[in-house]
Amino acid sequence: MAYIEPAPLKDKENPFEAMMSRFKVASEILGLEEEIYNVLKNPARQVIVSLPVTMDDGSIKVFEGYRVIHSTILGPSKGGIRFDPHVNLDEVKALAAWMTWKCAVVDIPYGGAKGGVTCNPREMSAGEIERLMRAYTQAMADVFGPDQDIPAPDMGTGPREMAWLMDQYSRNKGMTTHAVVTGKPLVMGGSLGRTEATGRGVMVSAMAAMEKLKINPYKATCAVQGFGNVGSWAARLLHERGLLVQAVSDLSGAYYNEKGMDIEKAVKYRDANKGSLDGFEGAQKISNEELLTLPVDLLVPAATEDVITSSNASNIKAKLIVEGANGPTSSRADNIINDKGIMVVPDILANAGGVTVSYFEWVQNRLGYKWTADRVNRRSDRIMKDAFNNVYKTSQEYKVPMRIAAYMVAIDKVSKTYKFRGGY
Ligand code: NAD
Repeated sequence: MAYIEPAPLKDKENPFEAMMSRFKVASEILGLEEEIYNVLKNPARQVIVSLPVTMDDGSIKVFEGYRVIHSTILGPSKGGIRFDPHVNLDEVKALAAWMTWKCAVVDIPYGGAKGGVTCNPREMSAGEIERLMRAYTQAMADVFGPDQDIPAPDMGTGPREMAWLMDQYSRNKGMTTHAVVTGKPLVMGGSLGRTEATGRGVMVSAMAAMEKLKINPYKATCAVQGFGNVGSWAARLLHERGLLVQAVSDLSGAYYNEKGMDIEKAVKYRDANKGSLDGFEGAQKISNEELLTLPVDLLVPAATEDVITSSNASNIKAKLIVEGANGPTSSRADNIINDKGIMVVPDILANAGGVTVSYFEWVQNRLGYKWTADRVNRRSDRIMKDAFNNVYKTSQEYKVPMRIAAYMVAIDKVSKTYKFRGGY
């Protein structure tokens, strides 16, 4: 039966279209030749697999899994695996292309990929998830490889699933192959500093942007949407650098304190409360929508996609937006934000700290040597700072927003490499 693309959700931007609209603008400014544009537009490889898995009750359920390799022009492809009921090929395609641009922006030698399985891990036992992950890895046996395609965790997967992936791949090869996947548990080849890496990169980008905007961090206020891995680390590290974090939020709502939130207390509360801030005291409860429009200097959307849209962009009062999440700003909101003179450090730059330290994990695995947390942090901070400066310089030179500049830097690097490598 032919594969049918699911229609994008109503009122939601199709993620592939959102990415493509920015890619197109940046390509036009760069004067990219049409044939090169066509090469970069199309994913290099799309794999769809059916995964029969024996469930705990003895029944056999068939899951659909995907792996999209967008590009291997800069090196082996890199990208996470998502276990979620909403996973579909269109989303995986967009996320794979995003990875190509993200790796190119921070100048690490990877192409872009993404994978996913349409499933609901919250309704599955650990055993069922393990069998599904092993079945997926087995089906991707000729796709994955330390020099080919290196997966990592994404929504619904974590170190536990990466350990199963590494084990299954290693059994096939008959040898332990740490470097086939990143985001592994620390005891089996994971890197120090990976947990906080994305939030740390958000902080480094925010500090660099504030320097350009002449915002004194010790006098600056900030709001962070999302209090998971990225949001809570960004909030904690921004607070450490002197900012007053006035609001944080999660799915339970937003929490505001004009005098500043106690971030350590909020982290402890969340960890003792099944990952939720629900019931957190010492702050006024506001809505997530209100958090986005607070009169703060810095806004960090670090929850999910499409939260800044054409319907709320005109109400945003922050001077600077640093995108911790992937795709938090819809392409229709871009113009409104730009017209207001708000600087946006885009996702493909701001949240690239995660993939940078994943790259370090792969480097350490190949060296067979473990770096200290200090070395990891110093090197990733330098990569993030250099990438920020490079994008900022391009944005000044071409008088374009930082988002378009980031795409330009990435497209320029990938297209030049493509030309050097040559085609058929
Ligand atoms: P997470 O699951 O740890 O945390 C997500 C947080 O956002 C939770 O606090 C959740 O309650 C909250 N949330 C979800 N929907 C929300 C909504 N509509 N309004 C307010 N809060 C909401 O996820 P994470 O790893 O922190 O990832 C967050 C974002 O950052 C995602 O877009 C992810 O793709 C992106 N990202 C993550 C990494 C990483 O290393 N973890 C790297 C790059 C990009």
